[in-house]
Amino acid sequence: MKDDNFLKENNARQLWHPMGHPGQLQANTPVIVTKAEGSTLEDIDGTRRIDAAGGLWCANLGYSNDVVKEAIAKQLYDLPYYSAFAGTTNPMAIEAAYMVRDFFAEDGIGRVFFTSGGSDSVETCLRLARQYHRIKGAPARTKFLSLKKGYHGTHFGGASVNGNNRFRIGYEPLLAGCFHLPSPYSYRNPFDESDPEKLAQKIAAVMEDEIAFQGAETIAAFIMEPILGAGGVIVPHETFMPLMREICDRHGILMIADEVICGFGRTGAWSGSRLWGVKPDLMSVAKGITSAYFPVGAALISEAVAEVFETAGPDGNIFHGYTYSAHPVGAAAVAACLSETLRLDTKTNAAARGTQMFEGVQALAAKYDIIGDVRGGHGLMTGVELVSDRATKTPLDAETMGRINAAILDSGTMVRMLGNTVAMSPPLVITEAEVNTILASLDTALASV
Ligand code: PMP
Repeated sequence: MKDDNFLKENNARQLWHPMGHPGQLQANTPVIVTKAEGSTLEDIDGTRRIDAAGGLWCANLGYSNDVVKEAIAKQLYDLPYYSAFAGTTNPMAIEAAYMVRDFFAEDGIGRVFFTSGGSDSVETCLRLARQYHRIKGAPARTKFLSLKKGYHGTHFGGASVNGNNRFRIGYEPLLAGCFHLPSPYSYRNPFDESDPEKLAQKIAAVMEDEIAFQGAETIAAFIMEPILGAGGVIVPHETFMPLMREICDRHGILMIADEVICGFGRTGAWSGSRLWGVKPDLMSVAKGITSAYFPVGAALISEAVAEVFETAGPDGNIFHGYTYSAHPVGAAAVAACLSETLRLDTKTNAAARGTQMFEGVQALAAKYDIIGDVRGGHGLMTGVELVSDRATKTPLDAETMGRINAAILDSGTMVRMLGNTVAMSPPLVITEAEVNTILASLDTALASV
């Protein structure tokens, strides 16, 4: 291993970071994380901080789960790789798929298609949705509907249904035939509707209108996150996803639940769809499927959709997949992570600690006018939107957000800044005392500005 000075100087000279400016990162070396234990990170200078970001909403089991580490190590020695492309498979892939299917049986899931991550999983769902309609004799159903503020990864399909133009503009033209509905964001929306239930109804009306305009017979699928994560932790009203499901059903449109963040307990339920009482047709998952110990994702297919493929003629052939689909080491990580997730019942801790965090942040909102909106209350996804003026809801400027982030880091916590929202999504194994430390860091940082 190179020495610390080499690492600090070289970070961005060779390495381009995702979601960063390659030139600016050369001048400002970010935190170099060297070790992690439980929910705590240690950087190159030996500073320890609680990981209130949970990596990228993914380190659900924290960083010290030996069951998962040992399963990965064992599999590396037994069989480091073999593909599941037509003709071969491997034992761990079979076992992991059985477990994932079982985990999501209550959501109506019947089949599992492994990928290498969230973007791959979204892409797989979008492509399977089109193929499904083609098999059913409706090849004109090619379009996609999604929500503004939704995040669905950065492949071309996912970027095309993304609802934040940051991830789109530099890469246009994207996939044709993708249309975006207003976000269930009651703090800011084009209707000026602050009642989340009424907002849900207004968005449903826009969706009906868009479907009528496009022609239902041209639309393949609607994709949404049960709770929108990267868009700033946007929690729809409990009627929203069921309303969307009902509209999709009435028009023969498949519903894709993007559960890349919500799946595996983060919302306090095993899936975000289950939280809202909805059974999707397809689900994209990743992150919590291995708690980030290994890059794996999956597209999950409902029993009904699976049957269409499995009973089809040659049209049912899936000409889609990845070299690392059903990777045995990834599959071993999945199997171990799922059994640990169930053994530790992480959703229950996520619900309790999520409530603690949400109430703690609400108490801070009573203290600091800079807090414009607090979102969460369903597990460990909390968003704190900061404004320079509560009356006008003017978003807090980037410079002050940067100072707040630095103050939070200085006080021993790592969070994620999403524009003018502080997002917190720690490991699902976080303790009560650690949540108090996170809240204290936020308090200190807000007091400092
Ligand atoms: N969908 C959602 C809801 C996500 O939050 C993310 C990643 N944050 C993705 C898709 C893309 O996943 P990945 O970064 O693993 O490709």
